[in-house]
Amino acid sequence: MAYRSLLGIVQSAAAKAREKQLRDDPMAIVLDPLHVDCKRCGKRIKLSRKSLYDTFHWRVHRMRCLKRHPRVQKKPLPKPDVRRGHDSVVFISHADPMT
Ligand SMILES: [Zn+2]
Repeated sequence: MAYRSLLGIVQSAAAKAREKQLRDDPMAIVLDPLHVDCKRCGKRIKLSRKSLYDTFHWRVHRMRCLKRHPRVQKKPLPKPDVRRGHDSVVFISHADPMT
């Protein structure tokens, strides 16, 4: 019993392997052999019509998507003169009880 896809084409073992690869990707929602939704940006990626579940277009989008929307934005480090100011404050507060 051969599995037939939505397009009526007999799915090859290689296509099945690619389908699994796409379904295992936490960022991808596999709609059909030619369309994958990106969970990250919500875009629909059209896959190559040359073969079913062709991962090339998806991998290109995935890479660009990750670059375009960085998840963690690093905050600038605190200014170095804050520490210098702290030292002088400590010196002054210790000066009072000693006198
Ligand atoms: Zn995306």
